Amino acid sequence: MAGTSRLIKLNNKTLVRCCVALKAVYRSKLALIFNTGKFRLNNIQQHLSCCDLCAANVGASYFQEKRLRQALLCQHCINDLPFFKQDIINGNLLNWPTIKQALPNIHFEYLFALSPYIYPFNIWLAQMKYLGRFELANLFASLLYAQWQKTMESTLIPPADLVISVPLHVKKWQVRGYNQAHLIAQDFAQQLALPYEKDVIIRCKHNQSQIGKTGSQRRKNLANAFKLKQGLASHIKHVIIIDDVVTTGTTASEISKLLKSAGVEIVSVVALCLTLPKSKSSTKA
Ligand SMILES: [Zn+2]
Repeated sequence: MAGTSRLIKLNNKTLVRCCVALKAVYRSKLALIFNTGKFRLNNIQQHLSCCDLCAANVGASYFQEKRLRQALLCQHCINDLPFFKQDIINGNLLNWPTIKQALPNIHFEYLFALSPYIYPFNIWLAQMKYLGRFELANLFASLLYAQWQKTMESTLIPPADLVISVPLHVKKWQVRGYNQAHLIAQDFAQQLALPYEKDVIIRCKHNQSQIGKTGSQRRKNLANAFKLKQGLASHIKHVIIIDDVVTTGTTASEISKLLKSAGVEIVSVVALCLTLPKSKSSTKA
């Protein structure tokens, strides 16, 4: 018995040594494959992926002269996406009189969105929200990053100090399992090299869905729905709020009020889509 247990001990020791050695080889091979210049993981993903819209091969893609860190769309489909012309409105949709009129009583200074709430963004957002297509967060963040960077270069929008996202109530989070705005925001902040805080604002009221409500109904529905969970450092003067779709701006405005009570001077709302006034009835929660 003693001999057998010694044999088992020896075997265990040998096994452990083998595992350590294999692990080292595995790590070095992985490092060789993924970390050396030409063969980065992102490049491999891009070469293996098919475009989400036309099924063509996805290669390196660019938008607004920035290389995009994404593996879902080919260059042709990126060029065809229905973006707002940011240069006409100086990167701020509130400079567009129709939008300014449609969003009264707001407490943020800049509104930036990539596109109206139309195809393919409306389909993608539904897939991300209800079918768990998390990989779309990276595409959205990359597009927002490229467009936002380009806008910052050509306008007088001051640099931001912090990125946050529109929070979900914990009950909604438990049902869905994730917050799509958080997924986009953390990737966007990482690409911009800005700090991201997910818990500055919490949603403390589990209110009814905003679908189909007018601006005043939404304001009433969202009254006291948010709370500032933690104070902000005194140097934080410009905060970016990330949302998926802006409709009446009520949610972002309520959050902006809280941020301003904590010493923030400028709030920019950065969203994927804006529901244009004439199609208000067709949108979001
Ligand atoms: Zn394509």
